[in-house]
Amino acid sequence: MTVEPNRHLYEICHNVPKVELHCHLFGTIRKNTFLEFNERAGKPFTDKEILAFYIRGEKPVGVLRAFRTLDSRLIKYARDLYRLTFEYLEDAKSHNIHYTEFSWNPTGTVISSGIPFKDAQRAIADAIEEAHSKLRITGRLICAIDREDSPERAVQMVDWMIANPDPIHTIGIGIDYRETNRGPQLFFDAYARAKEYGFKLTAHAGEFETPWQNVQYAVNSLQVDRVDHGYSMLHNPELVQQILKEQKVITVVPTNSYYLRTLPRSQWASKHPIRQMIKLGLKIHPNSDDPTLHDSNSTKDWMMMVECFGATIEDLERFSLNGIDGCWAPDESKLQWREDIKDFFKHYK
Ligand SMILES: [Zn+2]
Repeated sequence: MTVEPNRHLYEICHNVPKVELHCHLFGTIRKNTFLEFNERAGKPFTDKEILAFYIRGEKPVGVLRAFRTLDSRLIKYARDLYRLTFEYLEDAKSHNIHYTEFSWNPTGTVISSGIPFKDAQRAIADAIEEAHSKLRITGRLICAIDREDSPERAVQMVDWMIANPDPIHTIGIGIDYRETNRGPQLFFDAYARAKEYGFKLTAHAGEFETPWQNVQYAVNSLQVDRVDHGYSMLHNPELVQQILKEQKVITVVPTNSYYLRTLPRSQWASKHPIRQMIKLGLKIHPNSDDPTLHDSNSTKDWMMMVECFGATIEDLERFSLNGIDGCWAPDESKLQWREDIKDFFKHYK
C-alpha cells in the first residue's frame, strides 16, 4: 500500500508502540533545562545561541560543540544527569516509546565534568527506575566511547563499567562523536574487552560518508550486534549483501545533519541514503538521535520515513519489528511486543 499524506500517518507514527535504539542523552536536553544550566554556569552561551539549537534550519547548527560545553561547563552534578535522563524518558514516553536503549559518554562526564563514573551511572539508573515506576517506560544505558579521544580512554571507560557493574541498567557500549579519521579499528581493544565481559555492542559507522570499510570493520572485527547509521555501506554491494544475509539491524536517523548540510534542499529527500536502504530491504529502524537539538521527535522521524523517503505502511510495520529484533531486551518481552505491533497494524491494513 502506498501512503498518501493523510491524517492517519500522524496517528500511526505517534501511536505505534515503539522502541528507540539510537538516542544520545545530551541530544535530548530540553530548552528550558539548557537555559537553566547555562544561567547557573555564568552563561558560556548567549540565550540566542541556545535558542538556535532548537530551530531546524536548512543548515543545522552542529550539536557536538553543545555536547562539549555541556561536559566542560554546564553539567556539574550527578543530579543533572538524573534530570536529563528523567526528562528524556518523559518525552520519549509521550511519543509512545515503551523501551529505549540510549547513549551517554562517560569519558566527558568523568574527565570534563569531574563526576565519578559510579555516581553518574547511579544517577542515570535512579532516573530510569523512577521513570519506569511513574511512566511505565523502560530505559537501558549504552556507554558510548568518545572517538575523538584516545583508544586508551576508551579502554578506561570499559574498565569503569567492569569495576561498577550494573547489569540491569547498563547493558552495552557504543561509539560516537566525529568519525572522520577516527575509524573503528582504533577501538578494537575496548570492544574486545566489553565483549569479553558480556556487554552488547553497537557502533556509529559510515555516518558522514566515511569509508564503507568502517562499517565492514565494525561488523566483522568489532563484531557489533547492530550498526548505527551505516549509510556508506551502500558504496559496497558485497557488504550490503553480507549485512542483508546476516539480518543485521541498522539504526538510521531521518534528520541526520550530514546529509541536510551537504545535499541541496531540492535533492535531499531523493538522495538521502535511507531511501535506498528501504528499497534494498535492509533491516533498518528509524531513530531520533538528538531529538530536541534537531528540533524533532520520534513521531516526526517516523513520519519522515514515509513523507521523505518513500516508505509504506508495510515498511513501518517492518521497521517496528526490526526494532524488536535489534534491541537487547529479554526474549520473553520481545514475543509480546511483536504481537502488540502486529495487532496495532491490523487496523491499518
Ligand atoms: Zn548518533
